[in-house]
Order: sequence, then structure tokens, then C-alpha cells
Amino acid sequence: MMPPPRVRPRGIEPSYEAVRAAQSGYVYARAPMLVYWELTRACDLACRHCRAEAVVDRDPDELSTDEAGALLHQVLAFGNPLPHMVFTGGDPLKRADLYELLEEAGRLGIGVSLAPSGTTLLTQEAVRRLRACGVQSMSLSLDGSASDRHDAFRGVPGCFEMTMQAARWVAEAEIPLQVNTLATEETAGDLPAIYDLLTSMRVERWSLFFLISVGRGTALREIAAGDAERLMEWLYGLSEQAPFAIKTTEAPQFRRVALARMHAAGLHSAGLDGAGVHNSSIGRGFGIRDGNGILFISRTGGVAPSGFLPLAAGNVRTASLVELYRASPLFTALRDTSRLRGRCGRCEFKAICGGSRARAFAHTGDFLGEDPLCPYEPA
Ligand code: SF4
Repeated sequence: MMPPPRVRPRGIEPSYEAVRAAQSGYVYARAPMLVYWELTRACDLACRHCRAEAVVDRDPDELSTDEAGALLHQVLAFGNPLPHMVFTGGDPLKRADLYELLEEAGRLGIGVSLAPSGTTLLTQEAVRRLRACGVQSMSLSLDGSASDRHDAFRGVPGCFEMTMQAARWVAEAEIPLQVNTLATEETAGDLPAIYDLLTSMRVERWSLFFLISVGRGTALREIAAGDAERLMEWLYGLSEQAPFAIKTTEAPQFRRVALARMHAAGLHSAGLDGAGVHNSSIGRGFGIRDGNGILFISRTGGVAPSGFLPLAAGNVRTASLVELYRASPLFTALRDTSRLRGRCGRCEFKAICGGSRARAFAHTGDFLGEDPLCPYEPA
């Protein structure tokens, strides 16, 4: 399915210093590294795969400004190193109090990244204001290499051009940019062209989200396990030459693929001893998975292991965010790799991978089951 890797000169090193600097001190049983917060379900796009099943209007039960401010103080209670927050949606720009919340996070010393939608709300003035409010990085979604493909996924004509223009404004504002791309049967053939497009832009990281059938994503087809493995092999080859970092979302087995390739290359001849592997772009993600190093807060305050695993441990309106993460049965089970089942339970890579808990749940109803995207047969 995938073409051979294309050779690109090594370019800018990915930054995301705030996240990386904090990573070294993280113990995931104590605090997550990343807190994804769905500020709102409102969005002016109509994406075919939307996890949040976003609509134009806000949910009347969304956290109020006061409740949102209280949530930021709850994040502070994790202590140092503080988690990094990703404000997502829907479209966070649909909340009028977004800038107020960003400023409050800044006052509290919480680093924030923003995941807006590529719509007319994302103006140059908005990007500059986000920069002034201290947004540390932004992400934009590109699911096609040209307008016809991208706009078909996003459900709004002109979305591709708006996203490309927004990417230029983000670059002008010197805000590090992550581009998110959906990996499905429908997009797989276009990924090389998307990669080529990204090499002409100022991008710090390319994140490929391997579709899970939740929300409106049930209308699209997940990549089959064997094709996913070949895609990850191709991605690893790209990552060695790409002028930006490459990561996967809800496909932690990319770490197994990468580790095998690093070993095959010869750790010493490649200058990669054990510490080198762990400090590589991919190695820094070892062990992080839904509920372990990551948590998700819904628009109404529900606390889940990720946005793709629709199980809530509790709600920040009535319970302590820190306690839910550290001590709830859901989160403690997810952090205990000895409780994994099926091939993930027997796998020698489970400590660094552990499979997508969200995909296991979506396919089997067992959030500790094996990840069907992975074809690996443990010894
Ligand atoms: S079997 Fe599970 S833990 Fe092992 S590499 Fe595959 S997804 Fe990861």
C-alpha cells in the first residue's frame, strides 16, 4: 500500500520545550503529562470523523467560566511538574471566555496548547491574540493534500484554504505548529502527498491519528492491522529524514516498530545506547497511553482516560481531578500493565506500548483487552 520512504534533508529540530522539559520529572501514577480539555462541543465544521460529534451551538451544560477557572486550579493541585494542557473541542474559539481562561492558565504557570478548527474564526488577529495570551503551540488538521480531499472530510468548502492560511499566520506568530492527519483506509493513499505538502510548510510535528470507530468516526474505515504495520514502517523511515517530528495517536505500537528498526540499525553504530533510544523523539513517548500520562476532561467535566475512550471515572464538578486520576479504579487499572489481556497482556513491549485502550474498548467492550490494530504475536 505505502510507497518507499522519500529522502528529505534533516531540518529543524522539534521544540515543544515546555512539554519536554517537564517530561523528565514525570511519574505517571502521580500526574499526567498531558491534560486534554474539551472546552466546548461547538464547531462550525462538520467533520465526518468527529469524536465530539460537534454541532454549531454550545452545550448548555458546558462548564461555566467560574467552573472552568476552578478546573485550572485543580490541575495546579497535581504539583510539579505540572501537566501541560491542550485546549480542544469542538472549536475552543467558539467560547467567548477562551482568552480569559488562557490568561488565567498563564497566571497559574500552566502551559497550554490549542487545537482550533480551520474556520473563519481563526483570523490573523485571533492568532496574534493567542500568542499574546501565551499559547505555547497550536495544532491544525489536514486530512487531504488538496482542497477537494480535505474539504470532503471536514464537511465545509474552503476549509483547506482557511487551514493553510491559518498555518501561515501561526508561522508568522512563531507559534510551533503540529499538523494532525487522520489515518484511515480513505486517507492512506494520500499520506505521501500530505507529507510532501508539510515539508513546504513550517511544521514542528506531524501526528497521525489512527481512526477509532467512535463518534462520527464510525462512518469511516479503520486501517487493517497489516496495512497499519506497513504504514508505520514507512512512517519510521520518514521520521529519520523528515524536517519535523512524526508521531502517532492511538497507535502506540509505532514504538515497537521504531524500537525494532533502531535495534536493526545497530544501537551503537547509530549512536543510540539505551538512554539514546529513550531520549529519541519516539522514545520520549514510551509508556504513555490512555489513562497513563494522559487524561481527558469533557465539556461537562467528565474525567476520562482519553477522548476516544468514553468511560468516565467521575466529574470535576463533584470530585477531585487529582484523586480521580491517581486513585479511581478505572485509571489505576489502566496503569497496571499486568492486568492487560490477550496479546497485549503477553507482550514483551507492553511497558512501552500497551496498545490503544480506546480501540480495545471500541472493538471488544474490554478496555484491558488487546488492540486489534496490532498484528504482533508475542513470543
Ligand atoms: S501486542 Fe499490544 S502491547 Fe504488544 S506491541 Fe501490539 S499493541 Fe503493543
